[in-house]
Amino acid sequence: MRVGVITVANISTTSEYICIMNWIDTHAHVYLPAFEEDQNEWIERAKAQGIQKIFLPNIDLESIPRMLTLEAREPSFFIPMMGLHPCDVKDDYEQVLSEMEAWWDRRDFAAVGEIGIDLYWDSTTLPIQQKAFIRQIEWALKKEKPIVIHARESFKEIFEILDQYKDSGLTGIFHCFTGSIQDAQKIMGYKTFMMGIGGVVTYDRAKIMKVLADIPAEFLVMETDSPFLPPVPHRGKRNESSYIPIIAQKIAEAKNMSIEDVAAITTANANKIFQQKELA
Ligand SMILES: [Zn+2]
Repeated sequence: MRVGVITVANISTTSEYICIMNWIDTHAHVYLPAFEEDQNEWIERAKAQGIQKIFLPNIDLESIPRMLTLEAREPSFFIPMMGLHPCDVKDDYEQVLSEMEAWWDRRDFAAVGEIGIDLYWDSTTLPIQQKAFIRQIEWALKKEKPIVIHARESFKEIFEILDQYKDSGLTGIFHCFTGSIQDAQKIMGYKTFMMGIGGVVTYDRAKIMKVLADIPAEFLVMETDSPFLPPVPHRGKRNESSYIPIIAQKIAEAKNMSIEDVAAITTANANKIFQQKELA
């Protein structure tokens, strides 16, 4: 972005022009209680770093009012999604999904999320996780919205389902992508899915750094997954959206590109996927 006026702190200069970097945090649970007390402060810090929007993935029924309260504070900055997190798919999931579906009938959301399959915490619920995932994919197709996927030890199971939706127009983001190059190639093969990159890239010996070198930037979006997975040097503390440039710096290193280009490309990608522009 070429501008002539310095307005925010997040600025780098080149010999030709002043560049202000704009970012989008595509995945942050900043409506959780951990963010209540110092809300003004962390929002201010995020904006000072050039964060333009924060997308809010829903978790369960309880998280909905919190998420919508944060949206009401600044609807152009906090953009909610609607969906049931795979770790919260329990025996009552059909009832829970019906209540969430009623929300979709009532108003618009940016995406169906956070949905997917998690076999790390509880693999016994796999059959109902699969059913919940498929039912929510159907909402996304009906509403023409992207899905935001949580995949933990479950790429095989998720790919099995997504393979059935080839050429359906389904789009989405694999949030917190830390898979192998083969996983990345499979995702890129769908042509309508992107990968969200977060704080894990800053961890020691993160294998995702090597994998990133071979993923074109056109497939990447930024995310923090706040309050989880804070980047170095903030490990062990609460993550927050203002740390996005720290993550981006590592992506720039992995891909041997400038951080300005990382900002421009990932922000354009995020806008593209959430606004349902032509992807393939
Ligand atoms: Zn999440």
